[in-house]
Amino acid sequence: MSKLSPTLVWFRRDLRLSDHAALTAAAARGAPVIPVFINDDSVSTLGAAPKWRLGLGVEHLKTQLEKHGSGLILRTGNALDVLQSLVRETGAGAVYWSRLYDPQAIARDTEVKGALKAIDVEAKSFGGHLMFEPWTVETKTGGFYKVYTPFWNRVKLTDVEAPLPAPADLAAPPTWPSSEALADWELGHAMRRGADIVRPHVRLGEAAAQERLGYFIDRLVAGYVEGRDQPWKDGTSNLSENLALGEISPHQCWHAGMRARHEGKSGAEVFLKELVWREFAYHLMHHTPRILDQNWKEGWDAFPWNRDDTAEVIAWKQGRTGIQFVDAAMREMYVTGRMHNRGRMIVASYLTKHLLTDWKVGQKWFEDCLIDWDPAANAMGWQWSAGSGPDATPYFRVFNPVTQLDKFDKQRDYVSRWIAEGRGRQHDDALSYFAAIPRAWDLSPSDAYPAPVVPADEGRKRALGAYENRGF
Ligand SMILES: Cc1cc2nc3c(=O)[nH]c(=O)nc-3n(C[C@H](O)[C@H](O)[C@H](O)COP(=O)(O)OP(=O)(O)OC[C@H]3O[C@@H](n4cnc5c(N)ncnc54)[C@H](O)[C@@H]3O)c2cc1C
Repeated sequence: MSKLSPTLVWFRRDLRLSDHAALTAAAARGAPVIPVFINDDSVSTLGAAPKWRLGLGVEHLKTQLEKHGSGLILRTGNALDVLQSLVRETGAGAVYWSRLYDPQAIARDTEVKGALKAIDVEAKSFGGHLMFEPWTVETKTGGFYKVYTPFWNRVKLTDVEAPLPAPADLAAPPTWPSSEALADWELGHAMRRGADIVRPHVRLGEAAAQERLGYFIDRLVAGYVEGRDQPWKDGTSNLSENLALGEISPHQCWHAGMRARHEGKSGAEVFLKELVWREFAYHLMHHTPRILDQNWKEGWDAFPWNRDDTAEVIAWKQGRTGIQFVDAAMREMYVTGRMHNRGRMIVASYLTKHLLTDWKVGQKWFEDCLIDWDPAANAMGWQWSAGSGPDATPYFRVFNPVTQLDKFDKQRDYVSRWIAEGRGRQHDDALSYFAAIPRAWDLSPSDAYPAPVVPADEGRKRALGAYENRGF
C-alpha cells in the first residue's frame, strides 16, 4: 500500500478530537484522514436514552470535524463489511480506532483486525477510553484485583500520560465516500416526547465538557467531599455522560484533578479516586465479563429474586413507590437522563432489598433511561448495591431510604424539586416529569402522593428474613 493511501479513523465511544491517540496517529501518518461512524449492532441494541444521546454526540462530532475541514462518514451495517467496503472505495491503507472493553466489542474488533490485516491493511487500536489498561494492573501474584482499595493503591502512583492536543490538520481525501444521513437512523425514536424534556439537561460535546471540567476544578472540587453526597446540590463533576461517550478523556480529568491536588484543593484526591472507580469497573469487566449479566458471587444464583414487573416494580420504575428519596431519584433520571450517585445507591438498594427484585431488572431499566449509561459502571453499581458483586456493600446493609433523606436532604430540597404531588408550589422540574413520561402511565401532578408500596422498616425486615432463610 502506498504511504499516501488514506487512513480510516473508526469513531465509537471516543467522540472528541483532543487526546485522541488514534486520530493523532492518523494525522501523523501524513495521508488523508477519513473519519467514520458505523451504525452496527452495538448501536441498534442500545437503550432509548443512551441511543438518543449517542446520536446527539455523533451529530456534534460531525460538525466539529467539518469545522476542521474534515468530515464524518456515516454507514449502517456489520462493522467489518462496512470497513472492508470503505477500504475498497477509498483505497485506504490503514484503519485506526480507540479500544473498547466489553466482550461484544472485543469479539468484533478482533475479527475486524484479523480480516483487515489479511488484506494487507494496517489495523491498529489505541488506548484512550481508560487510563490503565485492565491487563496491565496486576496483583503481586499476577492476578487481577477484586477489591477497590488495593487497586487504587496500586495505580495511584502510576504516571498517567499527558493528554494530547487535537491534531492541527486533518488532510481531506480528494473525494469523500458517500455517507448516510444521521436523521435517517432515527436514533431518538424510542425517546418519544421525553427527548424535548431531557435535551436542556444534556451537556453536549468536547468543548462543553472541558468547560465543565474547568468549572468543577475551579469552583466545586474544594467542596466535593460533602458535595458528592448532597443530591440537591451541583456538587459533582457531572461529567459521566461525556466520559461515557468519550467527549472528554479520563486522562484530561485526571490531570486536572492532579493539578487541583497540587494546589491543595481538598476534594481533589476523592475526585481522582472516583475516576479510578470507573477504571476498576472496567478492570472487573475485562477479567470477569460475567459481571455484566450474572451474579459475580455465584452463591446468589439460588436466591429467589423476583424478576417480574409486579405492581411494586412498576411503582419503582414510575417513581411512585411512596418512598420520597426513591421517587425523587427515579424522576430525576427520567427528566435529566442522569441520577445523583446517592440516589442510584438508594433506588438500587430499595429495588434489590426492599422489593427483593433481581438487580438485572434495575440494571436494564437504567440501561434504557441513563444518558450516561456505561456497561461496566452500571453492572458494577448494581452488583455492589445488591451485595452480589465483588467488593460489594454487605448484603445485610439495607439502606433506610427515610433516614438517608434526613442525612442527605435535610431541607427536602431534592424531594421538592422532583415530587409534585401534594404540594402547593410545584417545582418546574417536578412538573416536567409528567411531560416526559409515556401518556399510557396516566399520571398527573394533581394525583395524591401514594402510600409506601413497601415501608422502609417492613422491607428491611423482609429482606433480612429472606437472606437468613437462604443461609447467608
Ligand atoms: C446502581 C448504580 C448504577 C450506576 N450506573 C452508572 C452508569 O451507567 N454510568 C456511569 O457513568 N456511572 C454509573 N454509576 C456510578 C456513579 O453513580 C456515576 O458515575 C456518578 O453518579 C456520575 O456523576 P458525576 O459525573 O457527577 O460523578 P463524579 O462524582 O464527578 O465522579 C467523576 C467520575 O468518576 C466516575 N465515577 C464516579 N463514581 C463512580 C462509581 N461508583 N463507579 C464507577 N465510576 C464512577 C464517573 O465516570 C464520574 O463521571 C452507577 C452507580 C450505581 C450505584
